[in-house]
Amino acid sequence: MAKLKIDINDLHKSFGSNEVLKGITTKFNEGDVVCIIGPSGSGKSTFLRTLNGLEVITSGSVIVDGYDLSDKNTNLNQVRQEVGMVFQQFNLFPNMTVIDNITYAPLELKKMNKAEAKAKALDLLEKVGLSDKADAMPEMLSGGQKQRVAIARALAMDPDLMLFDEPTSALDPEMVGDVLEVMQDLAKEGMTMLIVTHEMGFARKVANRVIFTDGGQILEDSTPEELFGNPKHPRLKDFLEKVL
Ligand code: ADP
Ligand code: MG
Repeated sequence: MAKLKIDINDLHKSFGSNEVLKGITTKFNEGDVVCIIGPSGSGKSTFLRTLNGLEVITSGSVIVDGYDLSDKNTNLNQVRQEVGMVFQQFNLFPNMTVIDNITYAPLELKKMNKAEAKAKALDLLEKVGLSDKADAMPEMLSGGQKQRVAIARALAMDPDLMLFDEPTSALDPEMVGDVLEVMQDLAKEGMTMLIVTHEMGFARKVANRVIFTDGGQILEDSTPEELFGNPKHPRLKDFLEKVL
C-alpha cells in the first residue's frame, strides 16, 4: 500500500463571517507524531475536524490518504474508517458496555464477524490496560479509563491516522499519565498521530514535530527541541511563558 500522506494547501474555514482558519498549508507523512499547540480559540479543533470531514472546508484543499476532502463526492464514511478520532469528552456510547463500544464500528462498518471483533477488542483492552473492564458500562469508569476505551475504540478500525483533540484536558491530573502512556506506546509502534494538546512535556518527549497556531494560522512548525528551546515568533514566546 502507498504510504500515508496528508497534504493541506491554503485551507480556509469560516463560520459565517468568522474566518477561523486563514490559509493553512502543510504536509504530514506516515509515522509523523505532531503536536499542535496554541491559545484557546485559535482554530486547533476546527483544523483537526477538517481532516476527517467533520467540518466542511471553505476553500483550499485537504487530501488525506488519497481522499480529497474539498470534493463533495468524497465518501466521508470511508475517510472516517481510516482516520480515528479521540475527543476531549470521550463520546462513548453511554448505553453500551465497553466491549460493545469497541466492536460496534467493526461489526457495522467493516462487517467483521463477531468472534473476530470481540477477540480484537479484548486485545485492544489489554493494550490500554483495561482487560477487566470489558463488560462495564461507561458510567462505571473514571475519566482516564473512559479515554483509554475511546482510544481502543478508534484503534479497532485499524486507522491509518489518529487525531486527538485535547485527550487529557477533561481528566483529573492523576489520570493524565495513563492516557499519555497509551499514546506514547502508539507513537512508538509507528502510528501517525496529530495531537492537539496542552501537555508540553509530552509534546517535547514524544512528538517529532510541534506546530504552534494562533489566529487560524501556523506561526511556527519545527522540532520540539527547536520550538521549545528557541522559539522565534513573539506570540509563541508569550504563549510558552504563560503555559510553562
Ligand atoms: P480551539 O480548538 O483552538 O480552541 P476552535 O477550533 O474550537 O479553537 O474554535 C475556533 C473559533 O471557531 C472560535 O471562535 C469558535 O467559536 C469558532 N467555532 C468553532 N466551531 C464552530 C461552529 N460549529 N460554529 C460556529 N463557530 C464555531
Ligand atoms: Mg479545541
